[in-house]
Order: sequence, then C-alpha cells, then structure tokens
Amino acid sequence: MDLNICGRKALVTGADSGIGFATAQLLLAEGATVVMTDREPDKLHHAVQQLPGSENRPHAIAADVTDPAAIERLAQKVEDEVGDLDILINVAGIHGEGGLFHEISQEGWDHTIDVDLMGPVRVTRAFLPGLRRGGWGRIVFVSSEDAVQPYDDELPYCAAKAGLLSLAKGLSRTYASEGLLVNTVSPAFIETPMTDEMMSKRAEALGVPFDEAIASFLREERPFMELGRRGKPDEVANVIAFLCSDAASFVNGSNYRVDAGSVATI
Ligand code: NAD
Repeated sequence: MDLNICGRKALVTGADSGIGFATAQLLLAEGATVVMTDREPDKLHHAVQQLPGSENRPHAIAADVTDPAAIERLAQKVEDEVGDLDILINVAGIHGEGGLFHEISQEGWDHTIDVDLMGPVRVTRAFLPGLRRGGWGRIVFVSSEDAVQPYDDELPYCAAKAGLLSLAKGLSRTYASEGLLVNTVSPAFIETPMTDEMMSKRAEALGVPFDEAIASFLREERPFMELGRRGKPDEVANVIAFLCSDAASFVNGSNYRVDAGSVATI
C-alpha cells in the first residue's frame, strides 16, 4: 500500500526515544520531511546520529512542551526551516507520579497534566494555523490504554490521556471539513525506556530479575494482552504512519488501540 507520505512535512514530539523515534524513522524512510523535537538537545542530537546514514535526514529542534516560550521558538524555527506542516504527531509524554490517589502530591498532578495534556495542547495551538492553511493535514495524539481502562495507581496519567481522547475527538469535528483529520493511537506496554523504568522498579520491589518482572506484570496486571509480550515501538509507528497517510482519508475522530487486546471491552 502506498502511504503517499513522501514530501509531506511532519513534526514528531518525543522523537528522541521509543515510539517517537520509531515514528520519525519510519516517516523519514517514507520520504517525508521530518522535524524531530524533544526536551534535551544532546539526547535529541544523539538520537539523530543513530538514524541510518543513508536515510533522508531530519531537522532536529529541542523544546520542552511545558515551556510556552520554547514552543513559540520551535514554531518559528520550523516555519523558517520547513514552512507550514502537513502532519503533527504528539508523542511526548511521561508516566508521571504513581501511587494511589491519596498518595500523589499536588506537584505530581500538576506536572503530569502539564506534560501529558497541556503539552500537546500547546504544541497543537502553535502549529494549527499552518496545518489549516494547507487544505490537507493530519494530527495524531498518542494516548494510552489507560485513557479508557484506568489503573488506580496511575490516575494523573490516566486522566491526562483520557483528556487527549476528548481533545482529539473535539478537534476532529472542527477541522475535518478543511481537510485536517485528527485521530489518536492508544498503545499498551510497549518496549521503550518508559516501561523499562517501570519494570526496573517492579523488579527491585519484588526482588526478581527484570524478565520475571515483565512476565509477572503481564500475568497479573495485563491479563488481556493475549500476545504475552511487550509491543515494539515499530508496531505503534506503523499505525501512526497509516493515520498520517492518504490511505486513512476517511478516518477521523478515531482511537486506534495498539494494545494486543489489553483493553478488555469491545
Ligand atoms: P519514552 O520515554 O521513550 O518517550 C517519551 C519521550 O517524551 C521522551 O523522549 C521524552 O524526552 C519526551 N518528553 C518527556 N517530557 C517532555 C517534555 N516536557 N518536553 C518534551 N519532550 C518530553 O516513552 P514512550 O513509551 O516512547 O512514550 C511515548 C508516548 O507513548 C508517551 O506519550 C506515552 O505516554 C505513550 N504510551 C506509551 C506506552 C508504553 O507502553 N511505552 C503505552 C501507552 C502510551
């Protein structure tokens, strides 16, 4: 299937790691002009160096999604370097403070919502005018299985990700008639630094090896992940790329689960 992404101009947040990196790499391989952005300049440039040498090279511009001035600078640099975007992919996120509701600090709530919900809001506000000008566009938000299946020890994350589903659905109503389609992707338990950190903590808490922490997590906490393994970042990137393509021309306001069945309802 020809995704027809070649020549499209895309920005990926959270692009130096995990799902964002895999998505940027796939769009580059498809011939898109890609701007990779993430919080730390050194880590971002290191990630760019990890891309295969012959590949279409990305633009790399660091910005913290919690910093409005940094997002303004990012938008200006993108305008100068590539012009209006066709595709915006909001991947940057954190797991945030964990624990039961009464154990989570106010700062934990504020920071998680600031990164995971307000970050995508800021980035989308900054790039929306250019996306609307093109007459063809795609916005994808990376939410989570947690948005519709909340786990009671990670409620700030769940609430922020549920907010993204609602935000995307609302945006999809406003701009579809202009050719700008908006969708979400909701992964579960993908093999990235985010879940590596979760599993390292679990291994330490249970006093078991890392692999056993994963196996027991799948058994006890994610019983409906029928494939019995963590997903690969590429397996999420493939779905994101599809949603950014011409092949998804009739897909709007949808939430695509990439979760091996983790969400227990239809
Ligand atoms: P990751 O930690 O590898 O990637 C997250 C990226 O976001 C990092 O590169 C990080 O630097 C960036 N980021 C964090 N805070 C930022 C900030 N303030 N400004 C700019 N960038 C910032 O983890 P990942 O698993 O690839 O996560 C990508 C997205 O997928 C996240 O939104 C996450 O919530 C979501 N997700 C992941 C999983 C999973 O199992 N890994 C499951 C569901 C949803």
